[in-house]
Amino acid sequence: RGGAPEREIPFAKPGTLTRVYAVASGKGGVGKSSVTVNLAAAMAADGLKVAVVDADIYGHSVPRMLGVEGRPTQVQDMIMPPQANGVKVISIGMFTPGNTPVVWRGPMLHRALQQFLADVYWGDLDVLLLDLPPGTGDIAISVAQLVPNAEILIVTTPQMAAAEVAERAGTIAVQTHQKIVGVIENMSGMPCPHCDEMIDVFGTGGGQTVADALTRTVGATVPVLGSIPIDVRLREGGDDGRPVVLAAPDSPAGAALLAVAGKL
Ligand code: ADP
Repeated sequence: RGGAPEREIPFAKPGTLTRVYAVASGKGGVGKSSVTVNLAAAMAADGLKVAVVDADIYGHSVPRMLGVEGRPTQVQDMIMPPQANGVKVISIGMFTPGNTPVVWRGPMLHRALQQFLADVYWGDLDVLLLDLPPGTGDIAISVAQLVPNAEILIVTTPQMAAAEVAERAGTIAVQTHQKIVGVIENMSGMPCPHCDEMIDVFGTGGGQTVADALTRTVGATVPVLGSIPIDVRLREGGDDGRPVVLAAPDSPAGAALLAVAGKL
């Protein structure tokens, strides 16, 4: 938009009816995007107007996971987001040429996020989910500046008792007066296909450890909102663009994710 003045972000206005959740994790590969798209699909299936902004520059896997094949189009000076499974999506991957890795720096990501929030025609939304890059760095500060009312969801594995990460997320949230809604533990064991006994592939307790550390840092209770088991159907749902909450709502992961969505 060249030198045009920046547009206001509708979700950041006082009195907005849109709930904004920023989904964060300490490191990549813990299932942050999988959790984000499943929560979005579950809430959309419940009749809510839902959108996801994929700001994960390293992953940008949200469109594939949600089955979004369309591209953004331009109408006048607004960007129209493509949609699938009832969820509107804009991804940073839709604006990078081919799959060329781009060296994104803090200020570029800040601008991209600003544009995704202000220059995309979202219409009225009940819920907006932001899939953040892993780590608790500049982008968390950008979100806080751009959408101060955004609430934070933390995804971790049982292994990641990395309370350090949680503490950093907590410290930023305290500084920016943002609310941490809770911790979602993912890859919490796998039911044995033969006897159904849980195999704790990644150990246990990471979600609670992170929640406890955050509770101490923030000075208010940060709950564990749910534990999502390892489930082939979750991975398949992501690969097929049909989130497990829709494709197999009764599967262990599908049911656990639906329960978390019901708490938001
Ligand atoms: P992140 O966004 O944290 O980098 P992803 O959501 O991309 O992580 O997940 C990484 C990989 O692990 C994906 O292939 C995804 O399908 C798979 N995965 C994530 N959570 C689960 C789970 N609970 N069960 C099985 N596979 C999972």
